[in-house]
Amino acid sequence: MSVRVRIAPSPTGMLHVGNVRTALMNWLFTKAQGGEFMLRIDDTDLERSRQEFEDAQQEDLRWLGLTWDLKDWQSKRFARYDAARDLLIGKGLLYPCYETEEELERKRRIAQATNRPPIYDRAALALTDAERAKLEAEGRKPHWRFKLSGGRVEWRDLIRGPQSIDTASLSDPVLIRGDGLYLYTLPSVVDDAEFAITHVIRGEDHVTNTGVQIEIFKALGAKLPEFAHSPLTVAATGEALSKRDLEGPLSVHNLRKAGYEPLAILSHLAKIGTSDPVEARGDVMTIAREFSFEKIGRAPARFDLEELERVNAALLHMTEYDAVQPRLAALDADLGPAFWAAVRPNLTFLSDVTAWAAIVRGPIAPKIENAEFAAAAAGLVPEGTLDAQSWSAFVEAVKAKTGAKGKALFMPLRQALTGLDHGPEMGPLFALIGRDKAIARLRGEAA
Ligand code: GLU
Repeated sequence: MSVRVRIAPSPTGMLHVGNVRTALMNWLFTKAQGGEFMLRIDDTDLERSRQEFEDAQQEDLRWLGLTWDLKDWQSKRFARYDAARDLLIGKGLLYPCYETEEELERKRRIAQATNRPPIYDRAALALTDAERAKLEAEGRKPHWRFKLSGGRVEWRDLIRGPQSIDTASLSDPVLIRGDGLYLYTLPSVVDDAEFAITHVIRGEDHVTNTGVQIEIFKALGAKLPEFAHSPLTVAATGEALSKRDLEGPLSVHNLRKAGYEPLAILSHLAKIGTSDPVEARGDVMTIAREFSFEKIGRAPARFDLEELERVNAALLHMTEYDAVQPRLAALDADLGPAFWAAVRPNLTFLSDVTAWAAIVRGPIAPKIENAEFAAAAAGLVPEGTLDAQSWSAFVEAVKAKTGAKGKALFMPLRQALTGLDHGPEMGPLFALIGRDKAIARLRGEAA
């Protein structure tokens, strides 16, 4: 059996770390075994769905490298949902209800006041044809509820283990609203069945839905997929991620703008909430090979921007020159492989590289506290083109002449040559800066 999974974002907002973690689990699971990844656009809500969100979500997924093998839109499949609706009505499993929101709210309050669970009482099932006709003549439009069995639905969840949902404790779910709009529940089942989805992998906020949806799969005579429900993604503090965070700083779009690498985001999201350490991985297939449902714990996964930053830095530190060269060129910071090798241990974000390129190129303002020492050093810069060995020869010569050693030797040289107290190893930087600029800077000139 070949594996096919799907992600099903609604185009009503930007993609955020929570959606991406779900998408990633699907992608990793299927790609590790040569299966297919479907992008299903859950746009049944025609009012709230927007083309710009759909486009932006796909751009974000592509940027992350989570590409899809097939794609479809729920808004193009209403005829399929109508067919399922008619089948369920024919079986007496989908029934029209006429209560207004206020009437339902009153029923819930009464149930609560009398210590009964606020479950829909199925009053609409008892309506006679004449009563229904009268309500419709009054202009009431029905919404449609699925008739749950009242029994237990059980499945073996690939993450949570054996699950059991008591449908007697649930209200019959509304599948079609009064205005005729399909809610998510039915179209999702129809699509999962018709696209032969083998595994439904999603957040644990859908566990109860799954109980309901399994009954709908069965009512439609469809084959059941396997289910895996992962603990949710939460903030580093353990608190739920706020809508504002998800739509703002924790949207993929904003993480990208902030300079995070796609593979840093994927490495972090793949490992949080699992038994693996959170470490950078240089390619997504490595992450896929390491993925397994057994590693996913039961506690929520903490998304931590500080840890992401650390992963981002680690990823850059292991990135080879050839892989990054076009991006360096685009940043006007491609000073060759030796430059990249020298500065990459000092990068947190790739854009940090421009500051080091500017220091190599100059002009910079040298930082000189002891002009006499610096002038002495200026006279000791080796002749000819500086290379990888020049720095140690230079330092030895300065040490011999001035008697300075340790920090008192290295710090003023670094400060004069780079204008800074910290930075990459001086050896390669010295060669990149070159003889003329090195002498000028040691003399206190902006060069
Ligand atoms: N559109 C649904 C959501 O974003 C899809 C859930 C599912 O994966 O079935 O919650």
